[in-house]
Amino acid sequence: MTDTNPETNDVRTVNNFLRDQIAEDVRNKTYGDAVIQTRFPPEPNGYLHIGHAKAICLDFGLADEFGGKTNLRFDDTNPEKEEQEYVDAIQKDIHWLGFEWERLCYASDYFGQLYEWALQLIKAGKAYVDDLSADEIRQHRGTLTEPGKDSPYRNRSVEENLDLFVRMKQGEFPDGSRVLRAKIDMASPNLNMRDPVMYRILHATHHRTGDAWCIYPMYDYAHGQSDSIENITHSMCTLEFADHQPLYRWYIEQLGIFPSHQFEFDRLNLTYTMLSKRKLLQLVQEHRVSGWDDPRMPTLSGIRRRGFTPEALRAFCASIGASRTNGTTDIEMLEHFQRDDLNHRSLRAMAVLRPLKLIIDNYPPEQEENVEVANNPEDPSAGTRQVPFSRELYIEQDDFREVPPPKYYRLSPGKEVRLRNAYFVTAKSVVKDAAGNVTEVHCTYDPASRGGNSPDGRKVKSTMHWVSAKHAIEAEIRLYDKLFSKPDPYDFPEGGDLFDNLNPNSLEIVSDAKLEPSLASAKPGDRFQFERVGYFCLDPDSSETKKKFNRTLPLKDTWAKIEKKAGA
Ligand code: ATP
Ligand code: MG
Repeated sequence: MTDTNPETNDVRTVNNFLRDQIAEDVRNKTYGDAVIQTRFPPEPNGYLHIGHAKAICLDFGLADEFGGKTNLRFDDTNPEKEEQEYVDAIQKDIHWLGFEWERLCYASDYFGQLYEWALQLIKAGKAYVDDLSADEIRQHRGTLTEPGKDSPYRNRSVEENLDLFVRMKQGEFPDGSRVLRAKIDMASPNLNMRDPVMYRILHATHHRTGDAWCIYPMYDYAHGQSDSIENITHSMCTLEFADHQPLYRWYIEQLGIFPSHQFEFDRLNLTYTMLSKRKLLQLVQEHRVSGWDDPRMPTLSGIRRRGFTPEALRAFCASIGASRTNGTTDIEMLEHFQRDDLNHRSLRAMAVLRPLKLIIDNYPPEQEENVEVANNPEDPSAGTRQVPFSRELYIEQDDFREVPPPKYYRLSPGKEVRLRNAYFVTAKSVVKDAAGNVTEVHCTYDPASRGGNSPDGRKVKSTMHWVSAKHAIEAEIRLYDKLFSKPDPYDFPEGGDLFDNLNPNSLEIVSDAKLEPSLASAKPGDRFQFERVGYFCLDPDSSETKKKFNRTLPLKDTWAKIEKKAGA
């Protein structure tokens, strides 16, 4: 299968065995004339992350390709960890990614049906109530090399099982005192088939069903039948569920219901990134980040706040495809897709992060003028804007060296450079504070070089951004970097901890950056390329008087280099 990136005309071969599988099922009419039906089944126990984006793009994207439909189903079988906050956040994130579900479903809507099916299995002699404790059940389960042992309660009569299960539901027994188990095979080589638990007693309030139930179905009992209830034709999930597939099929066959089929694909792993909901929750709870939407988090809400776009994420997911073996993808590849997208769409602006005064001695003190600047050189339809220029400007501290090192082409005494879209200037002298730091650079300008070119064809080696001092607005800039400092965050010595690998420099706050005045009208979520600095997005925490910009990414594209090296 080839896929063309419309932006770059870059044709690449994308391996996606799921697409091939669906195409084959359509050809063979595996499901007759029924439409392709998929679902995305998050458990509402945390926020969605980049890995989920891959699953969403597969579930929704492939159904779309084949004229099918996708349900959003909350797998809400575990009342202790699930919350409405997560249900809401998940819906928001899926919409943001650009997908719309056919039906909004909840596994909890099926509690009644699942209970009826449990009764049916008991009546058929396929399920029994077990009084062993959780520990005893574990001990009876055996290992990969040893078969399990039958529970002494395994051969209870149908009548006794029915009576006990109904009373479990009626709340007669305390938590953990009994479970309902499927009666399959304690010697199965697949541990999931050794009489798995179907129901447990849990006197807990559920975020949707309240106190209606005090027994809750296990995920493995609910999942396959939920697919079946929704006539899911292609139930896609990650590889760790492959061993559970025989169990899902067993339930479906015993009950004689719609034969949904499961297909497992590789989980997305990214370098420098941790994608476990449980651990992400821990980062939030321990205040190691500011929340689920901290711009350093790999959650969709985090990267959205950071300035990532759904378009880039979808293009990335399309390019990684799906396979049957787990691997790890370089974070630089995701960043490459994001830069590519932002390069095409983001407006340019000038911002000086670490300001140094530049004073043009031969520019009349009262004079000001506007220079015309393209909003996006990649997109002429983005138009131009006027940027004020005056005698006192700010430039980056890094753009001046009193004593230039070799190959330093930016400003230094006697050197001429271009101020972007404005004039050529030549540094003449400096003013220093008591500690010897340069606080002002004095220069002269060439009035004939207006617009950035000299009529005599003089060349300069450097073009620098600037902001007019008296017109500048002040802003806070958050320079975000990777949350973990190791490519594999789980690479820590024995006795160590995942969080030992947190990058201590993942956030640097610059509190007094100087921005061109047009940025005063930026709205939260607006994205810009600050020329020569990087891509930035206005944070919702901004106020009218203090703008706060998050760095999405610096400009330098390391993936392009990695690819070039690989190709060379
Ligand atoms: P946990 O992190 O607790 O293991 P989970 O990430 O599996 O949970 P779910 O809410 O069950 O969370 O995930 C919903 C769907 O997203 C599942 O079908 C799962 O297979 C898929 N998914 C989860 N993580 C990834 C990932 N890293 N890459 C691709 N798909 C994923
Ligand atoms: Mg899961």
